[in-house]
Amino acid sequence: MALPAPSAWAAWPFGPATPKVGEDPGEAAARVLSQAIRIPTVNPPGGEKPLAKLFVDMLKDAGVEARVIDTPRNGSKEGRAAAWGRVKGNGSRRPIVLLSHLDTVPADPKGWAIAPFEGAVGAGSVVGRGALDAKGVSVVHLLTTLTIARRSEPLDRDVIFLATPDEETGGQRGAGYLVRERRSLLYDAELLLTEGGGIQVGEGGTSPVWGVTVTEKAPCWMDIVAEGTPGHSSVAPPVTAVTRLLDALERIRRLETPVAVVPEVARMFRSVAQLAPAEDRTGFRNLAVALETDADFRRRFLSKPGRAALVRNTVAITVLEGSSQTNVLPGRAHAQLDARLLPGQHCADFVEEIERTIADDSIRVEPFLAFTTSSSPVNTPLFRAIQRVASKVDPGAPVVPRVIAGFTDAHYFRDLGIVAYGFVPRWLPPSETRGIHGPNEKISIANLRKGTNTLVQILEALDQR
Ligand SMILES: [Zn+2]
Repeated sequence: MALPAPSAWAAWPFGPATPKVGEDPGEAAARVLSQAIRIPTVNPPGGEKPLAKLFVDMLKDAGVEARVIDTPRNGSKEGRAAAWGRVKGNGSRRPIVLLSHLDTVPADPKGWAIAPFEGAVGAGSVVGRGALDAKGVSVVHLLTTLTIARRSEPLDRDVIFLATPDEETGGQRGAGYLVRERRSLLYDAELLLTEGGGIQVGEGGTSPVWGVTVTEKAPCWMDIVAEGTPGHSSVAPPVTAVTRLLDALERIRRLETPVAVVPEVARMFRSVAQLAPAEDRTGFRNLAVALETDADFRRRFLSKPGRAALVRNTVAITVLEGSSQTNVLPGRAHAQLDARLLPGQHCADFVEEIERTIADDSIRVEPFLAFTTSSSPVNTPLFRAIQRVASKVDPGAPVVPRVIAGFTDAHYFRDLGIVAYGFVPRWLPPSETRGIHGPNEKISIANLRKGTNTLVQILEALDQR
């Protein structure tokens, strides 16, 4: 979808202002989001503190208990921080956390029709880095929190607003830090909603599917290091650090990891079987068996990288480094692998598999980012609340417990026993989800409005017995 000419767009013409009682949530969200995009928080280095302050000021302005929580600076000039707020419930049930993140990935303005950090608003949308991932999520959470705070009756549960720094580089200094050092901010939280799932619609805006992410694949990132004798490359020996590395990488490139269907993935495909093309329906209903016994189905299924990634460990060779000079043999060459493991698997085991594959003792395999993911159950009040609201907002739309190939900060909270779902109520066709980490990231004002109203309904539905 082409964007209109830049002249049709403008940053929101008003300064930041706390959304008013009775104000249209779409317009209020667009105004706050425009302002949030104009506060750059590209990570590294992040510099999320001014944005944390903007959100906390708005919460306080509306009378909500809120604080800026400083986190490790890690070289950022502006400082790094999380925004935290809490609307107290009547205490009869345990709290729910609305989790989002303040940092973004970079944006190269060259690929954009509209400058990525101006918070442009026009043609019914807000454009800019973070509009979807995840400043747009923070803003919907903020508006929702304000709406709950302004109710005459408290809900059963406290609603905790939490927007963290550092998600895009793994969250160790953001959600990871808060969970380790500031756990009391979560009180006794039972439930959590964050990014990583939402409502998929066809390009025509039809047949919505509500996807609630219950678990994720886990990263297992590693360095592959080869050594050799440095020297002049005019008289190179047959084996050098670089040739050793290339041999190792060639073996890794050919590695075929086994296909395995974890129960969460089997359930996910089962629950969308009735929407699948006729030829895939039987296979989706019993994925493990079909992948083993139906060669045509297996070929079709595995030819789609997005699907194949859900039934096997994957490994991509990303960083490559040898000499920095044409005529110098380096003493060391290294590569990095981005491996992604199925839920429940351990990086240490996969590192052993990589070592066996390389079969060269002189090569070092050094993991540097790894965690194991667990799953959240679906037999919970939060899943039922989402189902109830889905049946009202999108009658007939299935609510699918999903597994995603990427990862979010949800695992930090699942590890504490909190039921954490990746679910943001917004209706996106595939063309718009490509804006995540890509050019022309945008969200419609209609989505911001409907998202806020829907999230409020979900929180209210949690009170039903
Ligand atoms: Zn994100």
